[in-house]
This record gives sequence, C-alpha cells and structure tokens, in this order.
Amino acid sequence: MNVVFLGPPGAGKGTQAERFASERGIPHISTGAILRAAVAAETALGLQAKTYMSSGRLVPDELMAGVVSERLAEPDCASGFLLDGFPRTVPQAELLAQRGVGLDHVILIDVPTEEVVQRLMGRGRSDDTPETVRTRIDTYARQTEPLIAYYEERDALRRVDGTGSIDAVFERLTQVVNGASQ
Ligand code: AMP
Repeated sequence: MNVVFLGPPGAGKGTQAERFASERGIPHISTGAILRAAVAAETALGLQAKTYMSSGRLVPDELMAGVVSERLAEPDCASGFLLDGFPRTVPQAELLAQRGVGLDHVILIDVPTEEVVQRLMGRGRSDDTPETVRTRIDTYARQTEPLIAYYEERDALRRVDGTGSIDAVFERLTQVVNGASQ
C-alpha cells in the first residue's frame, strides 16, 4: 500500500503517519525527519538544506528528488510506504508519476489556518518562530496547496477532517482508507 499524507504544517500529519504506518507495517517516510537528521549530521545535504529549513522555506525540488528516490529504492519500501511531507510541490508529484510510483491513497488532513497557527505557535520546534510560522503557512498556500487540485483532477484525493483528538482523526483516516480500498 503506497500512501501520501498531505496537509498544512501543524495538521498532525507526523503523529498520524507514525501510528498509521506502524499499524499497517509500512515504513513512515518523513522528508522533514530525513532532512533534520542530515542537518544534525552535517552531511552535504544537511548543509544545503539548513538555511531553507530554518527560514520556513522549501528545500529545492532537485535536492528533494535525490532524497526521495534513494529512500524509495530501499528494500523496506517494496511492499509499500507512507510519505509524510512529500510531495510538497507539483514538480515533486510529477517526479513520483514519472518514476512510475503509483499511489493507492492520497489523503489531505484538513485543518483550518487559524487552528494551524495556534498549534504551530504552541509546538516549540526550533523552526516554529512567529516569522517562520508565517513563512511556512504562506509557503504551504503557494507551493503545496496546488497539489490539492492536482490530485483532485486525477480523482485521487480523499479529505479527512483533521480537527479534534488524535484518536478521532485516526479513526476517520482508517475509515477513509478502508472504504476507499474496496
Ligand atoms: P516538516 O517536518 O515536514 O514540517 O519539514 C520541515 C522542513 O523541511 C520544511 O519546512 C522544509 O524546509 C523541509 N522539507 C520537508 N519536506 C520537504 C519537501 N518535500 N520539499 C521541500 N522541503 C521539504
């Protein structure tokens, strides 16, 4: 099962993805986590990614293409994967399509912007300062939101209400995936 979770920063994608992937026995691939590890290890990728990440902007597609291609080529992805935080731009979605990576479920975890701002301000991650929160939300609106139309046009998008408790959102996600896979 190949799955993508889309949604604004602060929608709870990471939390839901971790739980979903472990229940289904597929790897949870968070491109943000891969990049944070690269920054901490001061690899070439990390050094290039750092300034983009700390200002809330996206790491360029060309860099991300390598990151994701390498990760999806690892043996644990053979029976499926959950992508959390990728694709984040239309060219990234096109890259998956060009590589022949089929997606069984593309799920938008939907949370209103006002709530996202509140959640991000309360999170305390180092890239969650007021300016970067603004930049990340603006970046999402300009670069990632067009993916909603991209996948809707391909009749691939399912929406899940991302408000409420972690358990409630997880329950909705499970229903959508189980219902859509018949
Ligand atoms: P996240 O943990 O998903 O919020 O990602 C943290 C940061 O990593 C983002 O603000 C971006 O700077 C960068 N990042 C993660 N995934 C991607 C991606 N698919 N494309 C570009 N930048 C990304």
